[in-house]
Amino acid sequence: YEEDGLNVNTYTETKEMSESFNQLFGRMKTIDDSRQEFVSNVSHELKTPLTSMKVLADSINAMEDAPVELYKEFMEDITNEIERENKIITDLLSLVKMDKSAADLNISSININEMLELILKRLRSIAEKQNIELVLETFRPVTAEIDEVKLTLAITNLVENAIKYNRENGWVHVTLNADYQYFYVKVEDSGIGIPEDSLEHIYERFYRVDKSHSREIGGTGLGLAITRNAVLMHRGAIKAYSTEGEGTIFTVRIPLNYIA
Ligand code: ADP
Repeated sequence: YEEDGLNVNTYTETKEMSESFNQLFGRMKTIDDSRQEFVSNVSHELKTPLTSMKVLADSINAMEDAPVELYKEFMEDITNEIERENKIITDLLSLVKMDKSAADLNISSININEMLELILKRLRSIAEKQNIELVLETFRPVTAEIDEVKLTLAITNLVENAIKYNRENGWVHVTLNADYQYFYVKVEDSGIGIPEDSLEHIYERFYRVDKSHSREIGGTGLGLAITRNAVLMHRGAIKAYSTEGEGTIFTVRIPLNYIA
């Protein structure tokens, strides 16, 4: 019986081990699948501008005695595609930086009011071009331990989106508040809004509600993925509320003191 007991134990252990191996392999497969999907998405996004450039260059090569203006127009289109390619690569590099562990944060004590003022100052000219009123309201002075570069990028993406997906003569309100534990940044816009069934997908890499519209206004679909990663690295939280045709609110909550 003892021998049998031993066998039973060994059998159970082996079974448990193989079950946890299966779980592990399952997890690895999921990671591998999502990596493959990411690589295939990246390749697709990078190839699109290249394909357009090839078509444009071929057309130029085939042109005979075309007016100079036409050449110029085609060259301008090529320049736009190069800029787009550049934006995708820049966003991808930012995303890779934000995909690391929290240990990679460069934490220092930062005046958040000043940080937000600077972000809005940089975006003011884009907002003016679209006749959008950009307002910052701060309820108290806030100093927090954060990675300034990463959170600046995160908030910049939100305000940029609020401007991009807005309407002519619209507005963007950014507010800063804090309690004893967290500070809160709210970015509210009078824009086109996000359909309810899209809300859960907006943080996915390359996800865009309206691909052609977003591409037209220069979106890569990576901005919110970058923002979310930066917020999570700070052990913060991000939420979105939206009504189609009325506008969107993003709220970001970040601990005042960095928790390693
Ligand atoms: P993109 O580079 O396309 O702007 P993001 O990751 O920043 O990518 O956003 C993903 C998608 O979420 C956008 O393509 C857009 O459809 C939608 N979106 C983001 N912010 C807003 C907003 N403030 N108002 C309306 N739609 C938005």
